[in-house]
Amino acid sequence: MKFPSGHQKNKIQQKGKNLLFFKLSNTVQYKSFEEKNEILKAKMLQLQTTASNQMLQSLIIMPVQRVPRYTLFFANYAKFNKNERIKDLVERTLSLIKEKTAQMNAAIADHDNMETLREISRQILNAPDDLIIPTRKLIKDGNLVKLCRKDDKPRKIYLFNDSLLYASFIGDSKEDSKTMFNAKIYALKGCICNAKSTNQLEMLTNQKSFILDCASQQDRDEWLNLINQQIDKLKDNVMQKSLVKAAPIWDQDHANPNCILCNDKFTFLNRRHHCRLCGKVICGKCSYGKWILKNINESAKQRLCDVCMVGFDKEWETNPSVGKIMGNWAQTVNPIIPSDESSDE
Ligand SMILES: [Zn+2]
Ligand SMILES: [Zn+2]
Repeated sequence: MKFPSGHQKNKIQQKGKNLLFFKLSNTVQYKSFEEKNEILKAKMLQLQTTASNQMLQSLIIMPVQRVPRYTLFFANYAKFNKNERIKDLVERTLSLIKEKTAQMNAAIADHDNMETLREISRQILNAPDDLIIPTRKLIKDGNLVKLCRKDDKPRKIYLFNDSLLYASFIGDSKEDSKTMFNAKIYALKGCICNAKSTNQLEMLTNQKSFILDCASQQDRDEWLNLINQQIDKLKDNVMQKSLVKAAPIWDQDHANPNCILCNDKFTFLNRRHHCRLCGKVICGKCSYGKWILKNINESAKQRLCDVCMVGFDKEWETNPSVGKIMGNWAQTVNPIIPSDESSDE
């Protein structure tokens, strides 16, 4: 092989430079998809390594992080703007940016919340079908100890705005070594939560009642406050706070196409019932409880909606004469399934 002379070498180098220039200036037209993809990959890698080792995802989020700065910018602009002619325009722009920022933040929070619910659901073998719903928000989770009949057992507790999920550990999954659980979920609207001895709290629910041991009194108080806040919110939304001792005036059927508690539509099969304490129209599954209401009948148990079941215990605490046949708190919230379901209305 013949090596090029010095003059030829210069010529080749010059040609190479020209070619390079040609290539760079025509990148868009000449690159195939695969080549472009390679270039994009290299660019992304470069970005990732130059931006103080940040992951690409964190770079993508940057435009979102800028949004609060737009608000700041326009707030300052409005403050220092001396031009009366555009004052109105600046104010309107600022309020529009604020509104859009709030909407965006809410959408991000909703998305994060759904992701959290999906993650919880993935870890639960027997996750209920309706665990992931947009209105359900995670308030707190943590490990507590459940006082069981035989042994005390660790439980993972998830407090949502509408329910309490308690999960028992069953092992790590082989695929991704995630901790897996079996779980039960309790609607908070039928719950009572009380403080027990120093570190404990007592959960009374429609299906089951139990005592949970917390790490400290501070931890217990935090759980207790959060759970009761959610229970109170649910009651405020649905029903009047004060309970009547006289039989109520029944709400009209036609004014209530849906159950006031679960919002299920009434049909031929899902029939309307009336709570004998508040008079609201509810469905059968929201009124499992039956109790003696002395003002109505001394011996026959009456249908109560789930909310009144909770309130009724509190009323009884201050005035036992209202009518109560069982003296045990745990029993007060255990449901008595009515046998005469069809004869109600
Ligand atoms: Zn219902
Ligand atoms: Zn009621």
